[in-house]
This record gives sequence, structure tokens and C-alpha cells, in this order.
Amino acid sequence: MSPPTLDVLNPATAEVVATVPAASAADVDAAVTRAAAAQRRWAAAAPADRARLLRRFAVVVDEHIEELAQLEVREAGHTIGNARWEAGNVRDLLDYSAGGAERLLGRQIPVAGGIDFTILEPLGVVGVIAPWNFPMPIAAWGLAPALAAGNAVLLKPAETTPLTALRLAELALEAGLPEGLFQVLPGEGPVAGSALVEHPGVAKIVFTGSTRTGKHIMTRCAERVKRLTLELGGKSPNIVFADADVEAAAAAAPMSFLDNAGQDCCARTRILVERTVYDRFLDLLVPAVSAVVVGDPADEKTQMGPLISAVQRDRVRALVDGGRGADGGRAILGTAPEGPGFWYPPTVLTGVAPEAPVAVEEVFGPVAVVLPFEDEQDALRLANATDYGLAGSVWTRDVGRALRVGQGLRAGNLSVNSHSSVRYSTPFGGYKQSGLGRELGPDALTAFTETKNVFISTEA
Ligand code: NAD
Repeated sequence: MSPPTLDVLNPATAEVVATVPAASAADVDAAVTRAAAAQRRWAAAAPADRARLLRRFAVVVDEHIEELAQLEVREAGHTIGNARWEAGNVRDLLDYSAGGAERLLGRQIPVAGGIDFTILEPLGVVGVIAPWNFPMPIAAWGLAPALAAGNAVLLKPAETTPLTALRLAELALEAGLPEGLFQVLPGEGPVAGSALVEHPGVAKIVFTGSTRTGKHIMTRCAERVKRLTLELGGKSPNIVFADADVEAAAAAAPMSFLDNAGQDCCARTRILVERTVYDRFLDLLVPAVSAVVVGDPADEKTQMGPLISAVQRDRVRALVDGGRGADGGRAILGTAPEGPGFWYPPTVLTGVAPEAPVAVEEVFGPVAVVLPFEDEQDALRLANATDYGLAGSVWTRDVGRALRVGQGLRAGNLSVNSHSSVRYSTPFGGYKQSGLGRELGPDALTAFTETKNVFISTEA
């Protein structure tokens, strides 16, 4: 029997663009052995040397931005502009994390009878399980700080998007990173992903993906008390008050849920609008959504490409068609290409019950619901009425209100008069069922360490 493989499809054309071998549990086991040996040497190296190699890796990635971006367009259907940003984000993460290798500081704590200090030690081998929606950045969010903190990394990309991950592993070797330190294991989640989760030689799992799979992995990690970071789903609100610059809010709203065809865990898919400006906001939103350019992701002018797969398109369709409630609501649609590829038009739903599945479940497609609210209390009640808590936006000219509503919002990433959520230098992660732990930002490396406390007696 021939070994299992994964077919990689171009989502814009549904054509197979590559076939790659799929890792088995035995492959994972062999990779863990190699990674453990490489990690011991890496952790023993001078922090400045680790930093230098990671900076060199960043330079090599920078030299291949266009190649990596084109690969992302082909395997994930991302627009070329986004794909370039994503490759640049890998470079920036490596650069930023490299600086941490020499700044992984412990603390000296005043105690009686001696000196007490803490040491931050690497965990060992870290497994990063990535989704298909942002294959490169999300891999790098785990990879870069884990390596900088002295760990080895085994990356399992999503079944549909292994190509950029495989190329990054080649570039790491080209930059001079030791063999075995960063390995990529494309494969099925329940096979290669599960083998990483179950392996006793893997000290931590960083998982980004659906809440359902995240919960399953959490139960498996519990068996070994394995360290775990979870970045899961979202259903983030975009709250527009009557005192906001309503024109600006309406102009910014379309790409806040259409970027990456809505396959973004931070997508602002619940647009909550104060009733007194609801009609005006919709009048502005409809032409703005219709003007979004949907088409060939390789075209520089394109703003939205296809969904990742036929399965994802069917999921989106089912939620939209089935979730609109008895009155059906009103659907405002943009346009999308016909023919092959996994296309779905920009979709805005109004008149939907606030508790309808499409209003509270993650669609992960280019779909938003618009709901009216009466006042601050009502806005917060609606905003927090989901199991998710990843991000949220508040549009208002009243600073006090922005802070009040921001404090009341149960979400990890708040934007005021903006939808910006992700920067490599600021922490990112979810409340409630959107996740566990934080990635990125100044503390990213510490999530890949254990703290050892040392007491030295000074008694004579
Ligand atoms: P998914 O859960 O289906 O898969 C994610 C990864 O887990 C894939 O690599 C998959 O192969 C692997 N996997 C599947 N079953 C597994 C198992 N039993 N054991 C180990 N690994 C397994 O998610 P997806 O559909 O690829 O990604 C979309 C989801 O990711 C969305 O829900 C989205 O919100 C979420 N996401 C969250 C963030 C965040 O930071 N919070 C960022 C991006 C995406």
C-alpha cells in the first residue's frame, strides 16, 4: 500500500496544485526524537547565538516574501496583498522574538536567610498545530517565541495548507538553524496532530483552530497535564453608537468581516447599531459592501478571494440558509465569480433573531448580521451573548463610553474607532471559549518556559 498523501487544491480554481506525503504517528515519533536531541544543543547555545540565527532566519524569509506570498495565494486563496503581509509577519515575529532570547529575565525576590531568584527554562519540544485560515502567521506566532526561548518546534499545518510551512522549514535550514530544531509534519489532524498531542516527548501544544477540536485536545492534554495554549473561534461584535462618526464606521465595516473572505477568528461579524442611526448606517453599509472587489486573489485589485474549500462553502451556506429564523430576515449580497473555485458572495443579514445560530455561531465566511440596540446596557448584553470572547470594536466619539463599554466587553482584544486587533508586539487571545492563554506581545516567550525558583542560603 502506498503511503498516504494530501492533495493541495487552489481554492480559486479547485485544481490540485501539489501533493505532499502525510505524516504517520511513526513519523511524528521519529521527529520528536530528532527534535529532542536538537533542542538540548539549542538550549545550551549562547542566547546571543540563538538570537543571531533567528535574525538570519528573518532575513532569509524577507528575501523570499514574494515566493511565500505566491504560495499562500495558490494554496489558501488569499489575496496577494494579504499574503505579502502574512509573509512579512513571519519575518517580523522572528525578528521581534530574537530580541527576547537575551531578555528572558528571571526575578530576584527578597527573602529571609538567603538569596532567592527565578530562572526561566525552556520546555523542550513544542507541538504547534495550525489552522488553514492564516497558515503562515499563526505558525510563526508559536514557532518564533518557542525557538527564541530555547525550545524545538514540530509544526503540523492544516491538511489543506501545508506548502508555506514546508517552505519555511527549508528556509530555516538555509538560514543555518540546526537540523531537527524546526520540523514540519503535514498530515491529518486525527493522525499526525493527535500523535503530537499524545506524545510524552512533546511538552506543550499550541493549538489554533475550532473550539470543538480545541476542547478535544484540552481533554487529551489533561491526561498528562501537558501545557497548552488555545486560540479558538470568535463571533466578535462591532458596536456603533449614534455619537460615532457613522460614515467612518460604515466605511470600515465591510472589510472587518470580509477580509480573508471572513475566515478570520477576529472578524466583526455581529454589527450592533444604535437604533437611532440604524437606517442611516445600513444605507451607507449596503453600497460599501457591494463595492468590495471579489475575484482572482492573484490580482492586486482584489479585496476578497474564495473560501478555502467546498466543505467550508457548504458550512457557510447551511448556516446562512438555515439560521435566518422564521421571518428569513433580509439578505444584502455582494457579487462573487461563478464557475470553479469555492466562491461565496459578501452577505449582510438584517432582521435576524439575536439568538439565531447565524447570529451567535462562528460562520467563518463573508457573512455578518446587523442588529439594532437601544442603549449601552443593551449593546453590552447583545455583545456578550455568545460563548466566544476574542475581539470587539466600539465606535463612539465619547471616550468615557468607549472605556465603559470596553471594560464591560468580555473579549481579549478591543479596538476603539478601529478594527485593528493583531500586532506582533501586543498580546492576543480570547476570553471564554475563544481560548486559553495569550500569544504575541512582550510576554510571548514566557509561555514557552517553566519558572524555576532557586533559594541559596547565606546562613554562616
Ligand atoms: P480545525 O479545528 O478543524 O483544525 C485546526 C488544526 O487542528 C488542523 O491542523 C487540524 O488538522 C488539526 N486537528 C484536527 N483534529 C485534530 C485532532 N483530533 N488532534 C490534533 N489535531 C487536530 O480548525 P480549522 O477549521 O482548520 O480552523 C478554523 C478555526 O480556527 C476557526 O474556528 C477559527 O476561529 C479558528 N482560529 C482561531 C484563531 C485564534 O487565534 N483564536 C486564529 C485563527 C483561526
